[in-house]
Amino acid sequence: MAELFELKCRECGKLWGNAPRSFCEDCFSPLEITYDYAAIRASLRREQLSSRPHTIWRYAELLPVSPDQIPSLPVGGTPLVSAPRLAKSWGLGELHIKNDAVCFPSLSFKDRVVAVALTAAKRFGFETVGCSSTGNLANAVAAQAIRSGLAAWIFIPSDLEAAKVMATQIYGAKVARIAGNYDHVNRLCAQIADKFRWGLVNVNLRPYYAEGSKTVGYEIAEQLGWRLPDNVVVPMAGGSLITKISKAFRELTELGWVEPKPVRFFGAQATGCSPISSAVKRELDRFEPQKPNTIARSLAIGNPADGPYAMNVMRSSGGWAEDVSDPEIVAGMRKLAEFEGVFTETAGGVTTAVAEKLIRQGRIAPGGTTVLCITGNGLKTTDALAGEFAAAEPIPPRLDAFEAYLEGRLSAAVATK
Ligand SMILES: *Cc1c(COP(=O)(O)O)cnc(C)c1O
Ligand SMILES: [Zn+2]
Repeated sequence: MAELFELKCRECGKLWGNAPRSFCEDCFSPLEITYDYAAIRASLRREQLSSRPHTIWRYAELLPVSPDQIPSLPVGGTPLVSAPRLAKSWGLGELHIKNDAVCFPSLSFKDRVVAVALTAAKRFGFETVGCSSTGNLANAVAAQAIRSGLAAWIFIPSDLEAAKVMATQIYGAKVARIAGNYDHVNRLCAQIADKFRWGLVNVNLRPYYAEGSKTVGYEIAEQLGWRLPDNVVVPMAGGSLITKISKAFRELTELGWVEPKPVRFFGAQATGCSPISSAVKRELDRFEPQKPNTIARSLAIGNPADGPYAMNVMRSSGGWAEDVSDPEIVAGMRKLAEFEGVFTETAGGVTTAVAEKLIRQGRIAPGGTTVLCITGNGLKTTDALAGEFAAAEPIPPRLDAFEAYLEGRLSAAVATK
């Protein structure tokens, strides 16, 4: 290979160079990026990373970007937060939260995938980019396209949260609301990518996009002191993130940067859209597509493109999958906030509630190190919390009134739920 990375068919292994394409034309299987690991291993030592900034570009050699193309935007490098109170309540030894609720610039892990995809879009000469999105991807593409000097067309299902729609429009992106669910939107985008010369990050640029998710895995390992965890709990929409964290851990092991270690992968979905977790729990060979109906809209993909690979990662690692109802999702959001001070969106509620369920079931063992992947910010899905907290009547600005309130005499006026 002329470069140290190129497209490779996941099934037949045929190499396809670097181009905006996501499927093998011989066998119609998905493509992914493969690297010349021997060359990377020979030219890069782990210690060389320590002088680089804490962004996804720290791991540039393991991403499909050329050294002269690395953008200036400091994406990623989010905190790994220890979660001792939650660990205690669940009876776990060591628990950490990988907090992508504060990922720059648009407050979800989708900033990572978009940063890599737009670098590829520029390299391939696209002037217009876009995506089909369940919300966070829309925000990330809109925010980053403007910085890259690219026009953006964003396609979303019509029922998205108001905050996610506005956080796309604010950047000046063109937003097309489609009367249908994500799977309808995605099918339309495949046709649009064929017809127009546009770079759709999760369609014709999907193999490049997906590699950005690996940086979650690199960061977890490095933040644990170049050590792999025993268990990771990952929310699943299209099923890409969980497979790419697994790829990241494999690569780090292959490079000799971490000790080999079996890591169990646990996938989290909402019961109202659970094609992958249902298939794992029922031990089916393949998943059955579903029609989504859940408040976890960012995970509402009924026909997940990477579903089979996600199932394989969970099964072959000795992990498992679970799903939780809408009330359990809200309880998960509240629990993470009340125990650890992290305000996550519905997807993080799914991850937290699923982790709790898996611990109760004994699927996640109490010993060892567990990491919860919190992927998005709570301020984007406040709709899900409507009615959770009653609005209190104001207290008159007088000490006696506050004392009355403290003693409960003003309780009628300041009713809380
Ligand atoms: C997209 C998304 C996911 C899941 O991503 P996949 O790679 O499609 O499985 C998880 N959490 C949030 C907040 C997302 O926006
Ligand atoms: Zn093939």
